[in-house]
Amino acid sequence: NGNILAPKLKLNDGREIPALALGTWLGNNTKPSSNEVELAVQWAIEAGYRHIDTAWAYKIEDQVGRGLAKKFPDVPRNEIFVTTKLWNDRHARDAVVPALRESLEKLRLEYVDLYLIHWPVGQFANLTYDLTDYLETWRGMMDAKELGLAKSIGLSNFNEQMIDRIIENGLEMPAVLQVELNLNLQQPELLKYCKEKNIIVMGYTPFGSLFYSKAKPNAPPPRVDDPTLVKIAEKYNKTVPQITLRYLIELGVIPIPKSLTKSRIEQNIDVFDFKLTQEEKSILKSFDREYRTIPQLKWLNNPYYPFKRPLM
Ligand code: NDP
Repeated sequence: NGNILAPKLKLNDGREIPALALGTWLGNNTKPSSNEVELAVQWAIEAGYRHIDTAWAYKIEDQVGRGLAKKFPDVPRNEIFVTTKLWNDRHARDAVVPALRESLEKLRLEYVDLYLIHWPVGQFANLTYDLTDYLETWRGMMDAKELGLAKSIGLSNFNEQMIDRIIENGLEMPAVLQVELNLNLQQPELLKYCKEKNIIVMGYTPFGSLFYSKAKPNAPPPRVDDPTLVKIAEKYNKTVPQITLRYLIELGVIPIPKSLTKSRIEQNIDVFDFKLTQEEKSILKSFDREYRTIPQLKWLNNPYYPFKRPLM
């Protein structure tokens, strides 16, 4: 294996972003151990990753910071792209820059490459909703960029209408939209919209329900042992997870595979030396089901709930 570098994509603000990132979310019910993410970040950089995706809400920014610190200056700061996110309890315009400063301190960085509003839904720590308009939050993000604390700014879990409203109000164009993107949730219209607006899409939960260990009982196929996918993987001497990452890359999406396992971290970036055929891509397309693994139904009654409301 060893040092496979992902190509870079151009952002609408002139900067560049590596086409694959390491995810660092441990899941809702996991208590982070002291150094598992720190190790994963180091292994990732050794394997060639140059983009780390994290968030204040993951409670492990300190570990990301320690992992990065161990790799600087062998790998220079300007060759690493760090993305982090503003949590829902800091949506007031004046709260954004202080929140980012907290993240920067944990990350041991002077700036992040990309700062995202994690969700359009505002909610204070006591779980009451903060109905601050996300346009105000976005103005705070623009302040952070102005100060040089974030080189690029973007959104996560926003829908087309919400992005249109930011643009119609004459505010800065988001550089990135991070949303759930996997075989069961391919979002072709949203991808088309972002392409037209020149917004780069980062795809979270790229494996969706591929693994038996993670899939809910009602989750649509495929699983990792799906014979059609296994056949495609064998053709390229790759694994089924690698095939799904490659598919997202060919859709123009930046996948964010998370792993704490050294061999899988190495495997997940080893997807830049082959190309799927049209026929293989149409097989992969056929698994699209508009099925979300992270619907956040607890926020369904919030006016800024971003997703199509399920029929109940
Ligand atoms: P993923 O789709 O990345 O799946 C992670 C799981 O897959 C882990 O259990 C991991 O196991 C396993 N895995 C990883 N690679 C392999 C492999 N090659 N073979 C077999 N198993 C594998 O899920 P996430 O939900 O974590 O999403 C990825 C990232 O996206 C997050 O970590 C986070 O950074 C971001 N995210 C952003 C959200 C947002 O709201 N903006 C929401 C959700 C995620 P193991 O670690 O044990 O190796």
